[in-house]
Amino acid sequence: MKRLAIFKRAFKDLFNIGKRYYTLFFIQSIARSSLPFIGFIYMTLIVDALTRNDLTAIPSLIVQFLSILFVLQLIAGWLEPLVTNEESLLLRKLFAEPNKKMLTMHYHYAESSEVREQLELINRNMMSSQSSLPMINVRVHEMTPKLISIIWGIILLSPLFSINTTSLPDGFWWMHPGFIILVFLILIAISVVIQVTISKKSGKRLTAMLAELKQSNATFFYEYGILNDTQSGKEIRLYKLTDKMIKNKQADSDYTRKLLTENYKRFRAMMVPMTGLFQIMTYLTYAYVGLLVLFGALPVALIIQLSSALSQMVSALPDVIQHGMMMISSPNELEEYYRFMDLPDEEVVGSLPVEKRLDNEYHFAIKNMSFAYPGSEEAVLKNITESFEVGKKYAIVGENGSGKTTFIKLLTRLYEPTEGTIKMNKIDAKKYDLREYFNLFGVVFQDYHLVGFSLGQNVSVHPTFDHNKVMTTLDKVGLGDFVRKLPNQLDTYLGTEFDDSGQSVSGGQEQKLAIARSLYKDAPVMILDEPTAALDPITEFEIYQNFDNLVEDKTAFYISHRLSSSKFCDDILVFDKGEVIQRGTHKELVKEDGKYKDLWSAQAQYYQ
Ligand code: ADP
Repeated sequence: MKRLAIFKRAFKDLFNIGKRYYTLFFIQSIARSSLPFIGFIYMTLIVDALTRNDLTAIPSLIVQFLSILFVLQLIAGWLEPLVTNEESLLLRKLFAEPNKKMLTMHYHYAESSEVREQLELINRNMMSSQSSLPMINVRVHEMTPKLISIIWGIILLSPLFSINTTSLPDGFWWMHPGFIILVFLILIAISVVIQVTISKKSGKRLTAMLAELKQSNATFFYEYGILNDTQSGKEIRLYKLTDKMIKNKQADSDYTRKLLTENYKRFRAMMVPMTGLFQIMTYLTYAYVGLLVLFGALPVALIIQLSSALSQMVSALPDVIQHGMMMISSPNELEEYYRFMDLPDEEVVGSLPVEKRLDNEYHFAIKNMSFAYPGSEEAVLKNITESFEVGKKYAIVGENGSGKTTFIKLLTRLYEPTEGTIKMNKIDAKKYDLREYFNLFGVVFQDYHLVGFSLGQNVSVHPTFDHNKVMTTLDKVGLGDFVRKLPNQLDTYLGTEFDDSGQSVSGGQEQKLAIARSLYKDAPVMILDEPTAALDPITEFEIYQNFDNLVEDKTAFYISHRLSSSKFCDDILVFDKGEVIQRGTHKELVKEDGKYKDLWSAQAQYYQ
């Protein structure tokens, strides 16, 4: 039942996403698949006219036949390019769906490694699973013309139900259509029972094989991912990983071929009894129709219509059943897909607009704030009560894992506190519209991410941007001259992924671009969350101080596990195991016995 509900949902989603495609495709399929049946009907009518010696009716029948044929072919041909285009658009949309979901789901799901793995699996399944939405689309594509043939077959076979049974000789009661239909239904039921028994028998092996295939697909995508990743190119070459990986690939594809062949053979074995049974049913029907005509229960002309309809139907039926079976053979993957798609979206808590203040008077006060990551019992932040003044520079220091980044995630509302509150201008931050609240912060995270778009777009994070403003910002971070020298300047693509004339930049330049992006946003609160962790303490100090000059009179938070960057700040908060254990200026804290003084003495040698 659950399985049925999931498929129902998948079909509904497919038809919703591809409304235009399916409408056009169904019209085209009806036009195309009806062609042979129209031929059978008119052939029957013409032969009937001939047997009745009614020659005058023939020209008009031929004209009708040719006109219908012309119109149907015109519709099918005219729709062809439209259907092809719409289908590629639909596939793009289907592939984008899980990634779009990643952007809208609550951030704590998007951040969890479990969900990321789930996304990777779903993306892989999109191409390889029999029950992913794109594959169901393929099945719909294959099955629709066959289903139309079956419907036409039933319509054309309908004269069988109105045969003249009185003309049957004595003792031929079994030729009554009612009885024949009953026999057929029994034969179909037997075929289904055989089918189910065989598929149950080979089901276990099939499931194991599908699991093996999944594993082989996973390795395939993983290794190709590495091979295509420019970052890993250096190691791959230096350690001569290429030969090994190519050999692995070869072995892997041989093995996959073996699995696929075995799978196919099993499937074929399953199909043989059913196809055989259908064949027997066809012969029986031919014999039945022949006898009916012989006994005068059916007009001779109908032989064409009935036998042609029958042969089309019999060739379509096993295909439909085969596609149906392939589709439902791995329903768990569809369940995985929907489990992912049903993860809660970012809660739309808060509707209060954030006041636009030219004076940047945004004041933050935190009261008794504690926090544990979802699914974890352990409090990562414990009972924090602190307030922050407008325009001051704050350093958040502490050892790795002491909760500094988590604190920033809460301040920026990527997460909400488990206990306690954050107030912004005396109002609970939760009450503000989340999108507007996000606008308050310009953050450079440790794991900042640049994208393969143009330099201008990277800084502005928008397809269109103010050239002068971007250039001024780049000048501030010291990249202006570098960009001016590039032939395409701000329109230069970062990396060569999308554009051959793209420009690769060094790690330091990337960092500057990330900083420029936070400055361009011109947010009232600036945050630097250790984007410099990989640099030496002196360079980090220079970058932090340079950034401090750029943020001017805005409120700023500087996060670091090193203390070099805290010296110039107005106020320093020392984090330890999720608590703020000290607060004060550098001068005050170095005098005071405690964590800060210990850390300072341990690290001071680097700053002298
Ligand atoms: P810091 O920035 O001081 O290095 P973090 O705030 O990143 O520390 O991490 C504090 C603690 O929270 C660490 O123990 C870390 O393992 C844990 N943590 C960080 N992010 C997550 C997450 N997404 N899910 C669960 N635990 C996390």
